Amino acid sequence: MPRPILATVHPEALRHNLQRARDCAPDARVWAVVKANAYGHGIERCFDALRSADGFALLDLAEAERLRALDWRGPILLLEGVFEPRDLELCSRLHLWHTVHCSEQIDWLAAHKTQVPHRVFLKLNSGMNRLGFTPAAFRSAWARLNALPQVDEISFMTHFSDADGVRGIAHQIAVFEETTSDLPGERTLSNSAAILRHAKGVSGDWVREGVALYGGAPDFPEKTASDWDLLPAMTLSSRVIGVQSLQAGDTVGYGSTFTAEGAMRVGVVACGYADGYPRHAPTGTPALVDGVRTRLIGRVSMDMLMVDLSALPGSGMGSEVVLWGRSSAGVVLPVDEVASAAGTIGYELMCAVAPRVPFAPSPA
Ligand SMILES: *Cc1c(COP(=O)(O)O)cnc(C)c1O
Repeated sequence: MPRPILATVHPEALRHNLQRARDCAPDARVWAVVKANAYGHGIERCFDALRSADGFALLDLAEAERLRALDWRGPILLLEGVFEPRDLELCSRLHLWHTVHCSEQIDWLAAHKTQVPHRVFLKLNSGMNRLGFTPAAFRSAWARLNALPQVDEISFMTHFSDADGVRGIAHQIAVFEETTSDLPGERTLSNSAAILRHAKGVSGDWVREGVALYGGAPDFPEKTASDWDLLPAMTLSSRVIGVQSLQAGDTVGYGSTFTAEGAMRVGVVACGYADGYPRHAPTGTPALVDGVRTRLIGRVSMDMLMVDLSALPGSGMGSEVVLWGRSSAGVVLPVDEVASAAGTIGYELMCAVAPRVPFAPSPA
């Protein structure tokens, strides 16, 4: 028998979460953001459930090739544009739409020989100061692009730094409006947090749904996935492969960071940081054993972690353990809760599932 750890992707959750973006932004088309191999879920594994999206957004050219290999003929947007001039050949060949965020990318386009004019998304840096032209440089970038025979349609994009937080998006929308309002073309602004939290405050022709597709709440703990009616698209599960009975004063794991206060049972779970589980998850981090919430105890090691079975007399060797996602009985443990206990965000845990973790075969 293989080691019992398993990741499972839930296609019906992906479909549901995609529909949530449509409900929140009924007038917009939806990019399914599938960068980082669909946030760790696997592009091929998610493709069927997401094929009713209006397009796919990602940034790795090899991932764009994989989508075309799946026979996806619709729009694909490269969120960071091209990284070097010859990437433009792939854009021409595979009809990839690409972001233009800096003047070098315009130089490369101007030198690119193609029969197929490109659709580009000109990116405005409206305050995040990551990618994009400043408002001062934006119009001349637009004019240059507009004059290129290699370009047939120019759309506009920006990205929010605080759609999930108190600062919000109004200041960036004001910059975007001021800079682009008299230019013709489609617009895309919103990520998951903006789709869910600011649907009324921002319009656009396209929204870019990332983490919410996979059932992560972009603004946890202010809001949970269930507050937003999102379903977990991934379950990371394993089993109890050993049981220890402790007496008061006994310790658990490396560094003896946990000491039993009285008699208790401990389950040893086949999941560790080499599987992508966060090593910094402390005692108290939630897990489900046989569908019941319990807690991690002691340090996470490379291949194993320990859970408290004291309140679970019926559980033991072979019991199902859900590290995040949905138990076979349908109980949900949001990835955001585990991430937050470990001092990170759900995005990181989804993306970090290690290559050694097998995925369950997708349902037909
Ligand atoms: C990753 C990304 C998104 C999606 O963000 P979520 O918070 O996961 O919805 C949208 N736009 C850009 C430019 C991105 O890089």
